[in-house]
Amino acid sequence: MPIADLKSHLAAAAQLFRVPADNPDLTRAQFDAFSKQIPLLYFILISSTIAVAYTYVNVAPDWLSMIVPGALAALAGLRTVWWLRQRRRVRSDADILSNLRATNWLTLPIGAGFTAWSFALYPYGDAFAKSQVAFYMAVTVIACIFTLMHLRSAALIVTLIVNVPYVLFFLSTGEPTLKAIAVNNLLVSGAMVTVLFIYYRDFADLVASRKSLLAQQAATQALSDENFRLANLDSLTELPNRRRFFAELSSAFTDAERRHVRVAVGIIDLDGFKPINDNYGHSVGDRVLIEAGRRIREVCEGFGPQRVEFARLGGDEFGLVVCGDHEDTDLLRLGERIGAQVKLPYQLDTAHTGLSCSIGFASFPDSATSSEALYECADYSLYHAKRHLRGRTMIFSSELEAEIRSRGVIENLLRIADFSTEIDLVFQPIVDAMSEHTAGFEVLARWRSARLGLVSPADFIPAAERIGLIRPLTQALLVRALATARTWPDHIRLSFNLSAHDVCAAEGILPLISIIEKSGMPPRRIDFEITETAVTFDFVRAQQSIATLKAMGCGVSLDDFGTGYSSLSHVHRLPLDKIKIDRSFVSDINDNPVSYKIIKSLTGLCDDMEIACVVEGVETRAQLDTLRRLGCDYIQGYYFAKPMPGDAIGDYLAKESARLDGAGAKVVA
Ligand code: C2E
Ligand code: CA
Ligand code: CA
Repeated sequence: MPIADLKSHLAAAAQLFRVPADNPDLTRAQFDAFSKQIPLLYFILISSTIAVAYTYVNVAPDWLSMIVPGALAALAGLRTVWWLRQRRRVRSDADILSNLRATNWLTLPIGAGFTAWSFALYPYGDAFAKSQVAFYMAVTVIACIFTLMHLRSAALIVTLIVNVPYVLFFLSTGEPTLKAIAVNNLLVSGAMVTVLFIYYRDFADLVASRKSLLAQQAATQALSDENFRLANLDSLTELPNRRRFFAELSSAFTDAERRHVRVAVGIIDLDGFKPINDNYGHSVGDRVLIEAGRRIREVCEGFGPQRVEFARLGGDEFGLVVCGDHEDTDLLRLGERIGAQVKLPYQLDTAHTGLSCSIGFASFPDSATSSEALYECADYSLYHAKRHLRGRTMIFSSELEAEIRSRGVIENLLRIADFSTEIDLVFQPIVDAMSEHTAGFEVLARWRSARLGLVSPADFIPAAERIGLIRPLTQALLVRALATARTWPDHIRLSFNLSAHDVCAAEGILPLISIIEKSGMPPRRIDFEITETAVTFDFVRAQQSIATLKAMGCGVSLDDFGTGYSSLSHVHRLPLDKIKIDRSFVSDINDNPVSYKIIKSLTGLCDDMEIACVVEGVETRAQLDTLRRLGCDYIQGYYFAKPMPGDAIGDYLAKESARLDGAGAKVVA
């Protein structure tokens, strides 16, 4: 064999007796297994040593039968204590390696010590005692190989340091029994060493595969953590998203049910956000959303003692889950704080945004018995707040519940209603403020339901919108209204209400145009009334519809003016002919300076923009006089007439001209 080969074989063999230095995971696993097994090894060693020493007391000199075994047992005892103490300690890789190395080399003196002691005792014993030494050494070395299996190098050192002298010693005694024992021990040790190699290789493989498994698990965990985070986070505001909200809600609900405590859901909707998006662009809109979300989150985090979970549900809608017992007053307090924060000015390069928010709350167990129903109740409270208490907080109540029921009934009956027989048209005069002559009529729908009696359009028009029936309804009403209006004198106009859905439909208002064309009524005698809500709903579509109507020659009025939020910006961007000031300002115009000032500034605005101003809901002479002084152009209201059936109009106009002409005649006379 060449020298180089021999060298490399020797190096490989030497490696077998060393602790592996390049595999910290393996050494750590060895150390762990070791600290459990080493005390057992010492137990075997000490108990066997005592058994042998006992046999030799009074046979061998005291130093051999008591002092040396005592010292060896004490040394073994100390090592046992040391190992037992290792179990609870946290060690570095380097520390573990150096300890294992020490242990490895310590097997050499310990093995040699016990072997030397056994051989020293041997000559003093009789045949029985001598075989006990042979038995003691053989059993102990096998036990050592077994317990040292995790540290192959140490097991090999012990095997060599004990077994080589053992076999040589007992073969040399010439005693057949002892020679047989020596050969037997040699074979058994050989087999044990083979098992040791196999076991050690499997152990090292196991450690390696466990390591890669752990690494894989860690990687998978990190990936799924990130996926979880992304799946539950709103990308714009970095708030929990809709999905997270519903998970949170369902777990809070289950918990509340189990513990018999209350839980509330809140839905927040920003008021006046859409115009910000429309007017200033989406990047400004995004920044406003982020800022509003941040402020609401701050309120939620600082709220107590209840825990408030907060999420963005989408668009300008946010959700709240209030966990823990609470009173309605707590919810109102939370709503007020959120409202106050949202209203504060936003730092934009553009003007003041005028943002506010409406909030709807519903609580378990008062309002609903499932988390889905609870959310619906909160949604309904929000809807109610937006319609009646804009910018405020509304809590779901039994009155609202009754309203929901009746809404459901209205929707169901409307689905099977026959528009041509059940829905009537009535007409209310719009009067010239100065001359008091009727300038036109606004047509209003009335539903006479066989089951419900007379249903207000304020109830069934929104119901028709919800169930998707508004467009056929509008078309049917327009056909009939035009047929009636065609019979009127030429100077009398028709005002017709359009819903947001008519104005903002994807296919536009073409069906209405063709109805007008077929009717034979000149478009210049028709005004379409469009609410601000319709305009804010989808400004671009509304603008297109208005342009089409104007191109045809129709007039366009902005209805219910003053109840929306972004009024002014729309007025000057749309080609409007008239503005109808909402009747809520008129009722107390003579008692409330605020209402008076609002109407005054609105009439002033109409004047500046050369748009005619119509005031609705005028019920008294005093109101009329004030409005005339303020320069209103047209008046509509019970003071002149309540809405009337189409066939009453002829009479009404005749009486009017008789009255006015009579008055004129008196003045002339
Ligand atoms: P609106 O367009 O603002 O119509 C004016 C409402 O005020 C009418 O209520 C009218 O009867 C009422 N009103 C008129 N003068 C006075 C007054 O002096 N005092 C008081 N307290 N009220 C007065 P109505 O007919 O119940 O209609 C309610 C709303 O329903 C309408 O408000 C309109 O938005 C909607 N609507 C009515 N008919 C139609 C329709 O054919 N199509 C659409 N899309 N909406 C309609
Ligand atoms: Ca109207
Ligand atoms: Ca109105």
